[in-house]
Amino acid sequence: MERIVSLAKRRGFVYPGSEIYGGLAGTWDYGPLGVALKNNLKDLWWKMFVTDREDMYGVDAAILMNSKVWEASGHTQTFTDPLVECEKCKRRFRADHVDGTACPECKGTLGEARQFNMMFKTHVGATEDESSVSYLRPETAGGIFVNFKNVVDSFHPKLPFGIAQIGKAFRNEISPRDFVFRSREFEQMEIEYFVRPEAWEEHFTAWHRLMKEWIEAIGLPEGSVHELEVADGDRAHYSKRTIDFEFDFPFGRKELYGLAYRTDFDLKSHTEGSSVELSYFDEETKERLTPHVIEPSFGVERTMLAVLASAYAEDELGGEKRVFLRFKPRIAPVTAAVFPLLKNKPELVAKARSVYADLKEILPSVVFDDNGNIGKRYRRQDEIGTPFCITIDFDTLGEGGEDKKDTVTVRHRDSGEQERVALAELPSYLKSRVL
Ligand code: ATP
Repeated sequence: MERIVSLAKRRGFVYPGSEIYGGLAGTWDYGPLGVALKNNLKDLWWKMFVTDREDMYGVDAAILMNSKVWEASGHTQTFTDPLVECEKCKRRFRADHVDGTACPECKGTLGEARQFNMMFKTHVGATEDESSVSYLRPETAGGIFVNFKNVVDSFHPKLPFGIAQIGKAFRNEISPRDFVFRSREFEQMEIEYFVRPEAWEEHFTAWHRLMKEWIEAIGLPEGSVHELEVADGDRAHYSKRTIDFEFDFPFGRKELYGLAYRTDFDLKSHTEGSSVELSYFDEETKERLTPHVIEPSFGVERTMLAVLASAYAEDELGGEKRVFLRFKPRIAPVTAAVFPLLKNKPELVAKARSVYADLKEILPSVVFDDNGNIGKRYRRQDEIGTPFCITIDFDTLGEGGEDKKDTVTVRHRDSGEQERVALAELPSYLKSRVL
């Protein structure tokens, strides 16, 4: 874990939040490669679950919502974690994260557990009283439910259909820890899939399968993700069935995603809370009903961390130790790097620049690097998980004979193997391996 955290910082994936001021616990800033990785994951998710389907509608709701939303959903009353405080050092811990009654820091006595609401409270407007209270949303689902009627009125979707959202969520976690795994500000990718009540099991099964397809698509190894059927009593207040997908993180097996059957709890609660009828009129059967909901929920940071942990590898190549990230080409922050063999040969640089410009048109992310010897450049790209390095050398210019003219070296990250590819074929060669 330490190696991953250190690589993530050194190479510009993840920095501690507000670092120059000593940080702010539970917050992280994403550097250029972290943003690229997160965006690739979010784009793939959106493509797979929204744009490639005919039954999905995207929304992007406000983070600040009327506080009545969270009263209706039950968060104001029950979105709590049990907190214990050490009587000696006054440090606070999540009761279910400590064993026994001794403080893990100073061995003082821990007091009685009490419930601590995890929503971040703020005030909207110039008055700071109870009427202006608002919360930073603790999950993106709320923004979906309050827009149910809007989407139905604008698009008249047929059941079953879903509404998807990617966005920030905030939780005042008692003890943020394990790098980005438990943050206070993070992103979720959530779907509320509305179904006829009698069909919930069939759709639960379908979403279960789709979540497994997603896990495969992002390259998490088989056997690293485990499913946990959440028992009665352990489930969230709204859920009749939940499966947690757990991942073998370097710090233990922990929740990665959740799949929940939320019944009609949310639409009913918001109908009651808002006095606006959130139901559905079925044109075919001429029947009005409240749809039931299947909710697949994905955390962006936990996805990124699972992907990083699975991709991290060390080996020896050419007699040298190296660190490399085995990202699937599709999600790698940099898809290909283009090098002129030498920096001080204008003809090589010009040719490499032209290859670079052409590839930039067709691949998600291409970089140009002419700094240092070629071995060093390979190592730098390996360390950030770039699947292909393309070198333009004297053979490319035709100096090694006609047969090698306009060919380049493509070097593969995981094996270190190199092959000669004709420039004319390079775009299709790379596209077929990346997209
Ligand atoms: P945990 O039990 O680990 O606190 P949870 O069961 O409260 O998680 P959910 O409410 O189901 O989590 O949230 C849905 C998803 O959002 C989780 O599966 C996870 O991927 C992500 N998530 C939740 N809390 C955090 C957090 N503090 N930091 C990063 N991601 C989070």
